Amino acid sequence: MRLLVLGSGAGGGVPQWNCRCSYCTQAREERDLPPSKKVFRHTQASIAIAETEEPWLLVNASPDLCSQFAERAELSPPEGSLRGSPLGAVALTDGQIDHATGLLFLREGAELNLICTDPVWKSLGSTFPIVPVLRHFLPVRRLAYPAELDSLIVEALPLPAGPAPYEAPTNESGHLVALRILGKKSGRRVVYAPGLPGISPEFTDFVAGCDALFVDGTFWSEEELAPMSPERRRSILRSHLPVSGPGGTLAWLSGLPIREKFYIHINNTNPILDPGSSPAKQVSEAGVQIAYDGMALRLYPLRS
Ligand SMILES: [Zn+2]
Repeated sequence: MRLLVLGSGAGGGVPQWNCRCSYCTQAREERDLPPSKKVFRHTQASIAIAETEEPWLLVNASPDLCSQFAERAELSPPEGSLRGSPLGAVALTDGQIDHATGLLFLREGAELNLICTDPVWKSLGSTFPIVPVLRHFLPVRRLAYPAELDSLIVEALPLPAGPAPYEAPTNESGHLVALRILGKKSGRRVVYAPGLPGISPEFTDFVAGCDALFVDGTFWSEEELAPMSPERRRSILRSHLPVSGPGGTLAWLSGLPIREKFYIHINNTNPILDPGSSPAKQVSEAGVQIAYDGMALRLYPLRS
């Protein structure tokens, strides 16, 4: 199984267009460096997964999709045809701006297979009407979880988060999910949770036995939210549990017997963006890695 990290930042990415914090400034100064030298830059989070020689599953379609595809030879149109793509389907963890806007840039394709929950499908057909717009350009086929794409099986665990701020409040579940992708050929399993409101026993069961785990690295601590209004702060914390602190994700991840553990969806306020910072060192000492744009992971088949 192959996995590509196309983007690793939270909504807005790093640098965020209107931010002059030290991280965004350093990211802006990396403009002319080769990709391997870019440390602070993170485009908006998205990954792609495929079993060998099979179509790619894109997990979340970020607003940076076009530049992310341009960076990866694996996602180029196949040789021998003028138009085409190795992309098989897109799976969404939620239907919000930083994870769904990229769908619009797939309009040149022949068809779009979209895997999402009922509330996300409803939202993308009404309040954030990406699907009706796309249907002017290509057929959009919706699949529910669990879904199959060749030998990949994609399962979702609903997480306790409400709808997007522009949606009417509802108690319906499925606005946000964690995904588990199983490769039937390789026997490998990846869990992707870029928005994690808390660590429940159900989530702990969901990740058990996976080979690679990607967890919400949006915030190091609640202090980063201080400049925001109390209402905005509450709304964000309902979807993103901070990394640090006794109840944070790092304490939980450090004891977890999973080989490959990553933070992804890192906000431009998070000090782990600076590899020399004490928070970045704490993450590394806990056996957790910080995902970066261009990262590739190969999970070899389990020996039977
Ligand atoms: Zn910034």
